[in-house]
This record gives sequence, structure tokens and C-alpha cells, in this order.
Amino acid sequence: MPAISITGKTKLLGIIGHPVEHSLSPAMQNAALAQLGLDWVFLPFPVAPENLAAALAGFAAIGVVGFNATIPHKQAIIPHLSHISELAKAVGAVNTVWRTPRGWEGTNTDVEGFRAPIGDRPWHERTTVVLGNGGAARAVVAGMAQLHCGNIIVVGRDRQKLTEFEKSWADSPYADRVQTQVWTALPELMPSADLLVNTTPIGMSPHIDRSPIEDDLMAKLPLNAVVYDLIYTPSPTKFLQQAQDLGKKAIDGSQMLVQQGAAALRIWLQQDEVPVEVMSQALARQLGRAA
Ligand code: NAP
Repeated sequence: MPAISITGKTKLLGIIGHPVEHSLSPAMQNAALAQLGLDWVFLPFPVAPENLAAALAGFAAIGVVGFNATIPHKQAIIPHLSHISELAKAVGAVNTVWRTPRGWEGTNTDVEGFRAPIGDRPWHERTTVVLGNGGAARAVVAGMAQLHCGNIIVVGRDRQKLTEFEKSWADSPYADRVQTQVWTALPELMPSADLLVNTTPIGMSPHIDRSPIEDDLMAKLPLNAVVYDLIYTPSPTKFLQQAQDLGKKAIDGSQMLVQQGAAALRIWLQQDEVPVEVMSQALARQLGRAA
């Protein structure tokens, strides 16, 4: 793998989070920058919530080109930006920021990251069932709406949160596509789900023996349904194993992670070509998987 070397002209990218030390983005992004032979580096920046404004001012002062924002900054950063994309507005979160002459601008590349592994199937007449109604579910809803998915049904355990979730899309171009249902509606929803997405943390390491749904529920999916888990460790999750046992196409969260990073890198470098495969291999190494 080509190495990064720091010079007096090295350009800075990074990720802010609190905590940030477990982030997999530095390994992915630095592998890509090295592969491209660029004099750039991507660093993890631990930024506590109360230091967000100071960090942004400092980044502007030292000429940081751009950065990712992760928990707890994805919503909190919005008032600090001079402009955010319509997509980030609809999702209500920003994960990618870059410097322009008018200040910091932001968008949400989780949406593109989620969408990329799905491909170009026609989704107009199809139904997506999303398990969970948190931050990641919002990127999934926007991604499927961009793919013109006819019905997007978000399933959660708290009726009040679901009502708020549904209302929050009212001013977006996607309002007419989004419905919500409580968990007990799943047996009726499964037979019409062309895509089933887990956005809950159920099944995440170390609770790897858990799945958000039982085997008999998974078996109700149509034959050609695609099953997608946003969790990337373990791989496969029990949820994806259930799907694979039934011969279904299964997509794990590592592809989303790589693709959201690739989309961010395209913005910072202002170029379409980025080495996605190299990023994917770097992520696999970080996760201890054979690349
Ligand atoms: P979040 O905002 O906390 O949302 C989690 C959702 O899961 C909430 O709706 C929560 O319900 C629900 N949930 C949690 N435990 C549950 C349970 N036992 N039964 C039913 N529902 C449950 O988290 P997030 O940011 O959306 O992240 C969710 C998952 O996506 C995490 O595993 C994260 O690692 C993954 N993710 C992956 C990527 C990627 O690039 N692959 C990107 C973003 C997130 P309540 O609202 O009722 O509590």
C-alpha cells in the first residue's frame, strides 16, 4: 500500500466526533489519498459538544479543506454552517462539510452511501420496510425516496416517536411516500416488502446472537426481496444470516460505510474518480476481515 508523507503543503481533512477514536474513516480515507498519490491527510479530531464552534473557527483558521461529522455533531453542526444541501435539510443531519469562500457548507453522504449497493432496480411500484426510526432510518428514507420507491414504511416500537418521525417529513419532497407502523404490524407488512432494512442496533457486536425479527417473519418476505443491515460488525449479522439461509440477497453495512466515505472524498477532491475498492480493502483490514 502506498504510504502518506506529510510535507509543508499537506492538505487537511478529518472527522469530528465525541468519541472519535473508534472511527474507521481515517484508515479508509488515508488509504484512498495514498493510492491517489495526493499530499493530503485525514485525521480524527476529538471535539466535545461545547467545543464545536471553536473547532470550526480553528479549522477555518488553519485551512482545513473539509471533514466528516459523526455523533454527537450531525445535527448540532447545522446552525454553524453557511449553507446545507436540500438533502441534508430533509434528513435533518449533516455528515460531510467543506470550506467555501462563503463559509462552511454541508451535506449528507449517508444517503448516497446507503443507496449505492442497492443498484438500479426499478423501485416505483415497490415497497421498502425500514426497521427503526432513528438517525440512520432518515438516511434510508431519503435514499429510497430518491430511488422513487413507491411505499416506504418505517416500523418502530414507540407510536409517539413514529408520529413525530412521519411529521418531520411533511415539508420535504418525500412526504407522500413515508408511512409509519408499529412493530406488531410486521406480519402483515412482510409479504409485500421488496426491501427490508434494519436500522436498529439489534444484532450489533457483542450481541451477535440477536436479530430484530424471528425466522418465521423473515420467511414471509417475497422470494426476490433484498435484505439490508446497516450494522457492519459482525458480518453477516444474524439478521442477514436468516436472509441468506432463505436464499435472499443480503447487503451489509460496510458497503454503506465505504460508499458514504467515497462520496465525501469526491466532494473534498472535486473529482469523480476515487479508489472505492482500496477504501473497502482498508476497511476490511480494520475490521479484521480478509480483504
Ligand atoms: P439511533 O438514532 O439511536 O436509532 C436506533 C433506532 O433503533 C431507534 O429507532 C430505536 O428505537 C431502535 N431500537 C433500538 N433498540 C431497539 C430494540 N431493542 N427494539 C426495537 N427498536 C430498537 O441510531 P442510528 O444512528 O440510527 O444507528 C442505528 C444503527 O445503524 C447502528 O447500528 C449504527 O451502527 C448503524 N449505522 C450504520 C451506518 C453505516 O454506514 N453502515 C451509518 C449509520 C448508522 P427507539 O427510538 O424507540 O428507541
